Formats: sequence, structure tokens, C-alpha cells
Amino acid sequence: MLTLMVVEDDPTIGSTLTSALRANGYAVVWEKEGGSALRSAERAAPDLVLLDLGLPDLEGLVVCRELRALLPSAVIVILTSRRDQLDVVSGLESGADDYLTKPFTLVEILARVRAHLRRHRGDVETERIVVGSLTVDLAARRAFIGSREMTLRAREFDLLARLARTPGVAAGREELMSDVWDSNWFGSTKTLDVHVAALRQRLAAATEEDGGNGGPSPRITTLRGHGYRLDL
Ligand code: CA
Repeated sequence: MLTLMVVEDDPTIGSTLTSALRANGYAVVWEKEGGSALRSAERAAPDLVLLDLGLPDLEGLVVCRELRALLPSAVIVILTSRRDQLDVVSGLESGADDYLTKPFTLVEILARVRAHLRRHRGDVETERIVVGSLTVDLAARRAFIGSREMTLRAREFDLLARLARTPGVAAGREELMSDVWDSNWFGSTKTLDVHVAALRQRLAAATEEDGGNGGPSPRITTLRGHGYRLDL
């Protein structure tokens, strides 16, 4: 059974979410404070965390960063009631994979949870993709530049795999969002830009560590007004 952790101090939202998720077959741990979420994270070992950013005891972004360190392979979705886009960007930079802005509907949140978990645990692919010095091992969910393994978060890996499937081919923003995040994507594509920025850093760092032994490394080219392309 897949385990979810809900970190939410609001009793109405917390209990509604928890019972809806349980009714859909997930094991749910509900934590009402950041501190208790961090204390129980490793024991609960959730596959996905729904994290409210406005918590009574600790700063939500701090909780996000610490949860990411404790649960490197879990999907973290932040819930924010604030319209402030800065919050969203900081959340993604603090280790979240996705976000939902309150108010959200249960249908919306269940669809998003399902989409994330399907990719997380999803169909096992056996393919290996090679683009220059980059090797993406889909079965093992590992990516290498030469012999140097890249440390990637769940959605960073998916985005890299998606771009590497079609090297040299332009991919539109909406297309990438729908392929990597959700088939019914709506709203801002800021999430995409933050993930591309992180991937660029990781590609550059791995290339430098590898010292060019694996041959030329691919890079992500920005296509203004359209999207991105992986080039060699
Ligand atoms: Ca709150």
C-alpha cells in the first residue's frame, strides 16, 4: 500500500484530505506540525507528502528542505494559500516537486496525487537512452554523465528522460508539463523553469566532475516563447 503524509494544521482541510485519501486506498499519516512531521518522516517513509507551507511551529520552507533531506525519493507537493509566486518558487527550490494553491478541490488533488504516484512507482521501462556523454537508465532511474552519476530528484529525472528521448527536437512548455507532471496540467509553468534551472546546474556539475572523459555533454537550450530542447 502506498503511504502518504499530510502535513496540515487546519483541522477541516486536514481531516477532509485524510479521509478522502484513505477512501482512495492510501495509508495516510496526518501530522499537524512541522516538528512532528520531521520526527515521524523516516519511520512513516511516505511515498508522497502533501505539505502546507503555513505551519504553526516551523517555517514551511524549512520543513520542506528537511523533509527532502530525510526522504530523498519521496514526492513532495506543497500546499499554499498564498498567491505569492515567490513562495512557490522558493518551495520548488527547497525540494518540492509540485505545488497546489488553496483553495483546491478534492478531485484536483486526487488526480495530482495519482499522477505523481503513477510516475513514481510506475510502469518499469527497460530502455537506456544515450545522448553524447549522458546515459539515462530508465529501469534503475539513474542518470550518468560519463561514469559520474547525477543526483536527481524525481521530477528532475523524469524531465531529463523526457528531453533525452527526443534530442535536437523542440518541446513546447505545455507539452513538457503534461508529459512530466500531469496529463491535465493547468496553471503556471513556473515549476518547469525551476526544474530546468536545477537540471542545468546538475548537468554542469556532473560534466565538470567527469572531466570530459565521457565525450561532449548535452545542454538544455531555451526556445523563447516555445519551450526547451536538449542539444549536443
Ligand atoms: Ca496552515
